[in-house]
Amino acid sequence: MKKSVLPLLILSLSQPAAANALTPEALVQRGLEAGIRYPGLADICDLSRPLLTAGRRPQNAQQRPQPTQQEREQRAAAAIIEPQKVFDNLFFLGTRGVASWVLRTSEGLIVIDALNNDKESQQFIEGGLRKLGLDPGEIRYLIITHSHGDHYGGQKYLVETYKPKVVMSEEDWQELEKPELQFSNPRWGVPPKRDVSIKDGERLTLGDTTVQLYVTPGHTPGTVSIIFPVQDGAETHMVALWGGTGLNFGPNEARMRAYAASASRFRDIAEKQSVDIFMSNHPARDGALESMEQLSARKSGQPHPFVSGRDALGAFQLLTDCALAQAESIKAGDRQKTP
Ligand SMILES: [Zn+2]
Repeated sequence: MKKSVLPLLILSLSQPAAANALTPEALVQRGLEAGIRYPGLADICDLSRPLLTAGRRPQNAQQRPQPTQQEREQRAAAAIIEPQKVFDNLFFLGTRGVASWVLRTSEGLIVIDALNNDKESQQFIEGGLRKLGLDPGEIRYLIITHSHGDHYGGQKYLVETYKPKVVMSEEDWQELEKPELQFSNPRWGVPPKRDVSIKDGERLTLGDTTVQLYVTPGHTPGTVSIIFPVQDGAETHMVALWGGTGLNFGPNEARMRAYAASASRFRDIAEKQSVDIFMSNHPARDGALESMEQLSARKSGQPHPFVSGRDALGAFQLLTDCALAQAESIKAGDRQKTP
């Protein structure tokens, strides 16, 4: 009997090489199947879509008419959504465009991301907390997932008003300290001043709650992804929040491979921690808007719409496979004509 173990071992060791040999199309198919619960991630798998660099407009962009003030206001009004208690200790604050998740602990609040600007952080974070019966004076930490203004832009108002510690990765603090910001947008508020710098795998404990912070390079050099527990009545679930999703760094093969490696590693960490909820900081990515609607209509005894069991890990499988597929298609020279 023992003799049969060796060929089996060789077979299992050879599997990763076989997986790498998948064509980009096969990787995409496997990724889309694994992440079927999260249609908001599917554009990551689109090999025909140009890989644009954020902040660098394609040549034909200038011809697009700029929205009028009235159109801007209409869009802003359409983006408004009510703040919502999603778990006993987790709250959604934000717009249709971008989320700020707030975790309540026995010693105060941890805010994850600050929205686009001070007007938004005042209206949706401060105002949203009050609407939910929470005291913004209890904000202790502001974790910023990455160095893009739609996540840090509202920090100044929160920092000046409530004095939270501002937490980012060392890599992304350095991004913000570069003489010129990688890219910017007139809607975004000013970047934060350097404060707490975390390293990969560090834990942040506030009162009865510990969040685990992982540096998952890809979307930015130091994107932070987070694992934390949430409570639904007597049940505890584990969230894995992916800190930066879009492939908005151009046709950069090394960066794409780093993204895939981060997603794969974070998937494995999430599996070990029995993660059963995938979350993003953009509601279009994780289906938060639909899930929140279902949650509002949930009857007692029905499952929680954010809890997806092992499908949560499938989201990271999609991100891994599809970023790898993108890297392979860049390597093959298929993406170099993109603007
Ligand atoms: Zn970003």
